[in-house]
Amino acid sequence: MSALRVVATDGISPEGLAPLREDGELEVREHAKSEGAFHTDLAEARGLVLRSATRVTEALLDEAPHLRVVGRAGVGVDNIDVEACTRRGVAVFNAPSGNTISAAELAFALMLASVRRIVAADRSLRAGEWARSRFKGNELRGKVLGLVGAGRIGGEVARRARAFGMSVLVSDPYLTRERVGELDAEAAELEDLLARADVVTFHVPLTDSTRNLLNAERLALMKPTAHLVNTSRGGVVDEEALARALADGRLAGAALDVYGLEPLQEDSPLRDAPNLILTPHLGASTEEAQERVATEVARSVRKALLEGDLAGALNAPSVGGRALAELGPLLDLGRRLGHIGVVLAPGAVRGVHVEYSGESPEALGVLPRHVLMGLLTPVLGVAQVNVVNAAVLAENRGIAVSSGRRPRRGAPGERVLVTLDTSEGRLELDGGLLGEYHPRILGLDGYDVNLAPEGTLLILRNRDVPGVIGHVGTVLGRAGMNIAEYHQARRSEGGEALAAVVLDGAVPDEVLAAIRALPDVMDARVVRVRD
Ligand code: NAD
Repeated sequence: MSALRVVATDGISPEGLAPLREDGELEVREHAKSEGAFHTDLAEARGLVLRSATRVTEALLDEAPHLRVVGRAGVGVDNIDVEACTRRGVAVFNAPSGNTISAAELAFALMLASVRRIVAADRSLRAGEWARSRFKGNELRGKVLGLVGAGRIGGEVARRARAFGMSVLVSDPYLTRERVGELDAEAAELEDLLARADVVTFHVPLTDSTRNLLNAERLALMKPTAHLVNTSRGGVVDEEALARALADGRLAGAALDVYGLEPLQEDSPLRDAPNLILTPHLGASTEEAQERVATEVARSVRKALLEGDLAGALNAPSVGGRALAELGPLLDLGRRLGHIGVVLAPGAVRGVHVEYSGESPEALGVLPRHVLMGLLTPVLGVAQVNVVNAAVLAENRGIAVSSGRRPRRGAPGERVLVTLDTSEGRLELDGGLLGEYHPRILGLDGYDVNLAPEGTLLILRNRDVPGVIGHVGTVLGRAGMNIAEYHQARRSEGGEALAAVVLDGAVPDEVLAAIRALPDVMDARVVRVRD
């Protein structure tokens, strides 16, 4: 098998790409910029690794029809149209933790620079002054740090603050009491924190709840002697209100690394604000962070392409590693049930309900997507459907999907019940794993059966009268078709029966037509189950 191609661009750290080169299974094509041969290489690319310069748009995805994984070496995915990737079944990864220490250290550097007026002192000295008394600062020791957001970066900042002898107030509505205790901090409401802190530092994501979190009103709560640091995201702080507060002397100092619009606009009021330090989004700009995020994302891309492990993908269910491997036979059963279901469904599918009973706590997170993959693949083609886009494709086709745990009945084991709701009625498929690995269909539309969902299945509905099995056998025999298994099931004597015939090889159309034409056969359908 030829090596799968991964294209890397945006000057990504070459050392960080080492996981992609571990063996010959992946072939890495590096491009400093997304120009020229980059585009040619995209045509065959399975993976794309980038930083923030290249934009992953519909147009770029059109150029890369085989793309399966995009890896962003860094946190923000503003340059990636994640929805377009999801629709096309492309998994998107970022590297959420590789930047943590660098960002925390920058926050600390800015904090120290602000309270000791380092940047202004440097500028003054270069301008020929020796103004020692003008640059009297403050110590951090004994001061209160107000930490807004205490996730990965906030947590590291808190640890460093404790080392500097500061006490730490935390505002983070999603934080457990244990985590606050671990940080040796005190939980506080944001307003209370702003009023008490000597230095306030933001480490939140940009969301609807954090946009403009530090607005004019809240800025007014801060002490005039306090300093503000923002290395999180620009939209969190009202820049005009901050510039005014600094100009009016209502805040001692501030330092920003991130802005509402980047690069910072020429006419931004921040450019003229006093006691303000500005850095051009440098939080992750260290050699160590760049190598770490590249390594982190290269590992994710490698596992996704070679093992189908999508744990940590931003647009796929996060089951990976051992759990995914252990779930393999169950997910395979789910796909087979979906496939058989769509062929046998009495009408167009408009609802899928998946019930699971078994041991795995993770199964329900991924199983419905695999049932949908099985169901949509015969309809849309194997190249179009995968675990990333299955749910979106179903939604686009107006298929309602639900799932739940199934009360255990009978013997323990891994069981999956798929119910298809169609315009012409319902169909139930009951599947189970025999000896943990071997998929079996144990119920079809209320009939008890026991057959392996593999190879060619001929499913018949017939009146429960003598002679049908013989007629079917004769037609198949005349066509030279070998019957591997024949299961006949009925609900009551003399009523309707269901027969599942496992055949070697495909069923020609004329043979199927001959079976359908047999007396007492009401319906006959063939499923070629994909392995
Ligand atoms: P994280 O997800 O680990 O932590 C974010 C924390 O914010 C969480 O604990 C969450 O509970 C908290 N939070 C969410 N909404 C909140 C609210 N309304 N009020 C208070 N807390 C809230 O993220 P992280 O890795 O620590 O990153 C923090 C920020 O730093 C992100 O915005 C990230 O994009 C940014 N960042 C910037 C740079 C840079 O170059 N300047 C580098 C890395 C990360």
